[in-house]
Amino acid sequence: MDVLFSPPDITEREIAEVVDTLRSGWITTGPKTKLFEKNIAEFCHTSKAVCLNSATACSEMALRALGIGPGDEVITSAYTYTASASVVCHVGAKLVLVDTAENSHEMDYEKLEAAITEKTKAVIPVDLAGIVCDYNRIFEILERKKNLFRPTNKIQRKIGRVAVVADGAHAFGAVREGKKCGEIADFTSFSFHAVKNLTTAEGGAVVWKDIEGIDNEELYKQFMLFSLHGQSKDALAKTQLGAWEYDIIAPYYKCNMTDIMASIGLAQLERYPAILERRKELIKIYDEALEGENIQHLHHYGDDFSSSGHLYITHVLGKNREECNEIIRKMAEKGIATNVHYKPLPMLTAYKKLGFDIQDYPNAYRMFSNEITLPLHTKLTNEEVEYVIKSFKECIR
Ligand SMILES: *Cc1c(COP(=O)(O)O)cnc(C)c1O
Repeated sequence: MDVLFSPPDITEREIAEVVDTLRSGWITTGPKTKLFEKNIAEFCHTSKAVCLNSATACSEMALRALGIGPGDEVITSAYTYTASASVVCHVGAKLVLVDTAENSHEMDYEKLEAAITEKTKAVIPVDLAGIVCDYNRIFEILERKKNLFRPTNKIQRKIGRVAVVADGAHAFGAVREGKKCGEIADFTSFSFHAVKNLTTAEGGAVVWKDIEGIDNEELYKQFMLFSLHGQSKDALAKTQLGAWEYDIIAPYYKCNMTDIMASIGLAQLERYPAILERRKELIKIYDEALEGENIQHLHHYGDDFSSSGHLYITHVLGKNREECNEIIRKMAEKGIATNVHYKPLPMLTAYKKLGFDIQDYPNAYRMFSNEITLPLHTKLTNEEVEYVIKSFKECIR
């Protein structure tokens, strides 16, 4: 039996929607992207959503919309995927990495508080595995540190403190205290990459909470300009007969979503409640089967929170990285694909070159040292999950 790690879950519904777009005569950013944005905003309980070609572009453009750049500092977690941090480098700001709390996947909030300076403009919390971070705690810290904040433009002044730009790449559809991921942080970006819960092959969306004194339509237009060369008219507007003329207001970027991608997303979003439900079922099977084993796993569901069930992260107690790699090899021999989330950023060449040292991130290192992620996706059958569980129990002995 071969068990894949995270294949895309594509049905005839997605295929029909893509074919409809291909036959329509309009394949790049147009009506389907606009409809997908509207549906995402409704789903997240926000006024607007912007769809771009990746979550990385969404986070980067959010930092740009906030006017963050050289001379500024942005803080994120050492225990995440590179994209949470690389976007800080893209805009030319200084990257500040904070260790996780002991035995936790979230930043150490005391260390976060200590890392805030007069130059800090944003914090990028990561809703790892689809579990929403403790934003009450984060906002409380930023309120307390408000006196240090030095806004340099209108949107920073209106927010009035360090901005929270969540990396919600895993967490589309997650909920905490009755609020959807997307209506909690100031800005939240989601990934629709092929391995994520909801996919458009590549793609992402950014949503934001209304900011008093900031016009949503203007902010939306700013994202449109950033994503399409700074061109005053989008491609659809330019095709109106006789309306050829446009201006370029700045030498901006190119990261728009196509209607082909959006059509996959429209079909996926319709199916999404059932997808979330199935992920919950699978997690329950894993949780129950691994009880009493030498395994620590995340809690995806509780009284006041429910994750998007993106990753089944486990920690094999008493094992080190070498031993876990051996378990991964044994699982592979049985045809089962597993993964590791994450090798902390200070262990990767790019971040070592920036001067980060894993010695300064002992908790993140400890989380990494015995981590194995089991397959979790909606193409997985109950029979396959049982096989993964049986094999995993054998391999960790
Ligand atoms: C996948 C991922 C991203 C990047 O998403 P893209 O859509 O590929 O840009 C960012 N952060 C985390 C934590 C991710 O897992």
